[in-house]
Amino acid sequence: SGINFDAYASVSVKVDGANPPGPIDNFDDPLLHPLLRFNSKLAGYSTPTPVQRHAIAIVSAGRDLIASAQTGSGKTVAFLFPILSKNLFDGPSDIHTEEYESRDRVSIPVTLILAPTRELAIQIHEEVVKFTYRSWIKSVVCFGGQPIDIQTRKLARGCDILVATPGRLVDLIERGSVDVKNIRYLVLDEADRMLDMGFGYQVRRILGEEDMHERRQTLLFSATFPANLQNITMLYMSNYLFLTIGRINA
Ligand code: ADP
Ligand code: MG
Repeated sequence: SGINFDAYASVSVKVDGANPPGPIDNFDDPLLHPLLRFNSKLAGYSTPTPVQRHAIAIVSAGRDLIASAQTGSGKTVAFLFPILSKNLFDGPSDIHTEEYESRDRVSIPVTLILAPTRELAIQIHEEVVKFTYRSWIKSVVCFGGQPIDIQTRKLARGCDILVATPGRLVDLIERGSVDVKNIRYLVLDEADRMLDMGFGYQVRRILGEEDMHERRQTLLFSATFPANLQNITMLYMSNYLFLTIGRINA
């Protein structure tokens, strides 16, 4: 895998909405926490892709975002880097500090990332683990098909980032195993696929969840933006920036 940067040299970028912040130019931008600047180099990333340049600036500025960009354009890092940075900046200044080691504290998630499939949820979780290696940030992944008790027990030991499929998440919320009141960052990855797979009800339920943090930021990523997805965003999101990289397919 990898990114074909030549293909992005002339790609069209459109940002709709009020007062969009300008894009970042590189991974050394002070908007990014030093740990991520360091770990992006370890991962061999030298230049951010267009969706990353814009999304990192927009999310860091506290704005809601709908982003449409093709598969393979680096959308995972586009939402993970600004969110992980904010988590790290808001945490203890010594990111490795002993008292914050995950085994010693029980946290409830600040970040919730929804993905349509088990494979994608695991992949996002592994990216979080990679980019937060040896920091206090703890990620947990939950998906259907695995005994729910295993996940309930994992959650009871605490997490900062929860990656989940929509069906399993709603089950866990209904059982009282997930407390959403600290959720400041809600990400819907591959939102078009979630609807295609029949998760419309669960997606609406989670977006409409009123118990979440009142300053919640909502980020929605999708390769396409069909009418059923537009309906959901009209109902549950407002005052967002709409980022389109390349052509948009309805
Ligand atoms: P998308 O979600 O848009 O389909 P991914 O986030 O899965 O794309 O990224 C596709 C691949 O590109 C992954 O293997 C990822 O590690 C790699 N990648 C992402 N951003 C960069 C970058 N800035 N430089 C080099 N490789 C990158
Ligand atoms: Mg993706």
